[in-house]
Amino acid sequence: MNHNNVKLAAGLYFVATPIGTARDITLRALDILASADVIAAEDTRSMRKLMDIHGIALNDRPLLAYHDHNGGKMRPKLLDYLAQGLSVAYGSEAGTPLIADPGYHLSKEAAEQGYLVTSAPGPSAFVTALTLAGLPTDRFLFEGFLPNSKSQRRSKFQDLMDIQATLIFYESPKRLAAMLADAADVLGASRQAVYCRELTKKFEEVRRGTLGTLAQETQGATIKGEVVVLIDRAHEPNVNELDLETQLRNALSTMSVRDAAETVAQVTGLPKRQIYKMALDIGSNTEG
Ligand code: SAM
Repeated sequence: MNHNNVKLAAGLYFVATPIGTARDITLRALDILASADVIAAEDTRSMRKLMDIHGIALNDRPLLAYHDHNGGKMRPKLLDYLAQGLSVAYGSEAGTPLIADPGYHLSKEAAEQGYLVTSAPGPSAFVTALTLAGLPTDRFLFEGFLPNSKSQRRSKFQDLMDIQATLIFYESPKRLAAMLADAADVLGASRQAVYCRELTKKFEEVRRGTLGTLAQETQGATIKGEVVVLIDRAHEPNVNELDLETQLRNALSTMSVRDAAETVAQVTGLPKRQIYKMALDIGSNTEG
């Protein structure tokens, strides 16, 4: 048995749970799960399973579901337990609650009402991925999940284009190839990127490359499991303006604006939209 029964002060205890390997739970998290008066979980089945693995008995304590679909109804109930002077532990299905997971409104309201709100920190997929990716960690932007629609996803990349930070996304394995292709198109195929799959699990995998190569690699492939994508910040391109213009003029002498922009974007790794605009400018100046 790895846990102690401890006397917990009344309050709300956020508990981080493993993102794969069940033993990635802290001893304090186990103490809290063993001792809280009430347990709430995004997914009660996975919480029960985790408690079983670690030999924690539920006994006659309530185990309640709290997730995106019943939050409005369940929150007053959980706050009422706090009002009764009880301790409430909350865990999401995997990783840290509130990180692309429920818990924000619960945390906010409990704090606003003056209850103790505390956290037993532990795994989170984006921190684990950042540790392994080999991309700069001095500044990062956690975007969570991108919109499903292609046009919204591309416009989100447009917004993120100049941000000087490592960009971090959660992504479904089914959308990974399309996401990488859009990222390569909008942000430029030469940007470094990494995807981390099945972190802490048996088939953990870290793939590093440019957005262009990763997009190509995943095209048509069957990708399974859970995925975090990280994209390096924009760096000053290695092509000077003059070279770029010469390359574009050469391409424009034999190709349409669209094809020339596509070819030069591929060669330089610069974003297609930027090259296309430049090609249009060259075209209109030449005509004038
Ligand atoms: N709260 C969690 C955390 O702290 O990371 C995130 C929950 S979010 C609903 C689930 C997403 O996290 C997955 O779709 C995937 O992008 C990422 N994720 C969770 N576990 C992962 C793992 N073992 N390997 C890679 N990505 C993972």
